[in-house]
Amino acid sequence: MKIAVINKGKIVVKETPDIELNGREGAVVRVLGCGLCGSDIVKFVHKISKDGTVLGHEIVAEIVEINSKTNFKAGDEIITSHHIPCGECVYCKNGNVSMCEHFKATNIVPGGFSEYVYLSEEHLKNVAHIKPENLTDIEASFYEPLGCCVRAIKRANLRGNSTALVIGLGTIGIMMAQALKAFGMDVMGCDLIPDRVNRLRDLGIAAFNVKEMDPNFKADGVFMTSGADKAINTALKYVRNGGKILVFSSTPNNWGYANNEIYYRELTVLGSYSPAPVDLQDSLNLLRSHQVKVDGLSTVYALEDIQKAFDDTMNNRIMKAYIKIKE
Ligand SMILES: [Zn+2]
Ligand SMILES: [Zn+2]
Repeated sequence: MKIAVINKGKIVVKETPDIELNGREGAVVRVLGCGLCGSDIVKFVHKISKDGTVLGHEIVAEIVEINSKTNFKAGDEIITSHHIPCGECVYCKNGNVSMCEHFKATNIVPGGFSEYVYLSEEHLKNVAHIKPENLTDIEASFYEPLGCCVRAIKRANLRGNSTALVIGLGTIGIMMAQALKAFGMDVMGCDLIPDRVNRLRDLGIAAFNVKEMDPNFKADGVFMTSGADKAINTALKYVRNGGKILVFSSTPNNWGYANNEIYYRELTVLGSYSPAPVDLQDSLNLLRSHQVKVDGLSTVYALEDIQKAFDDTMNNRIMKAYIKIKE
């Protein structure tokens, strides 16, 4: 089978022996396609992942071989996430499932940018679902990233009808804004790129160029999906006193939120990293009901062109790459 691996600062496609169940519990799935996540880019660019690593986790796949107590069967088209919380540890008990050691240790093998992947029984039980028939493969591949947004919204724990501002209207911002609306918030988005502003407006959600925003606007909650350090100032400017800032992305220079702003203005600054199974279930419902629309966000690449998908994403030439693996 073909896999795409990191090799000396490049992503290269190579042949490797097929995956087989060999009596294990779980399933071998044929990957139909896999979304390219911002976290894959970070792991590649900052060399967090070693040579030989297969990145990718936003898969849509077909079960080819299965040995499981679940109801899945060969031929089922599924979506899945990659990490599973243990439910028992101090992190899980306090709602920080993505900090759980078991969560971090679990993964799909070898990774999503591969023709075949092994899913454990745990994956099948907790985070895999049948792909809804009314979603295309590409739409269904947003299951995991939208789950991350859902979790961020729950962690912010805003009251119904609160005013929420999404800073940064990349794919995540566009999904976050729609999900916030579905959760009953009064949503506005902003970005510096006119195309992205228009994209959110086309979805019926107020959006502005950062430079044209009403200086008196104040949000109860600010959702930081921008990866720019300067956006931190925008967040501090538009959050109301006593409001919340939900941090949803890393920034290159790691600028912080000023101590005295947090203190004197009684702000809450909190992070949200990765979804729990229950958030993924909500994500699936939002996609299935089209309360969150994700069509038209992705650019499709063949596995052979995966390096170009990485390059185009890093250079902001596209919103989101989807690697189509089964032709
Ligand atoms: Zn992801
Ligand atoms: Zn745990």
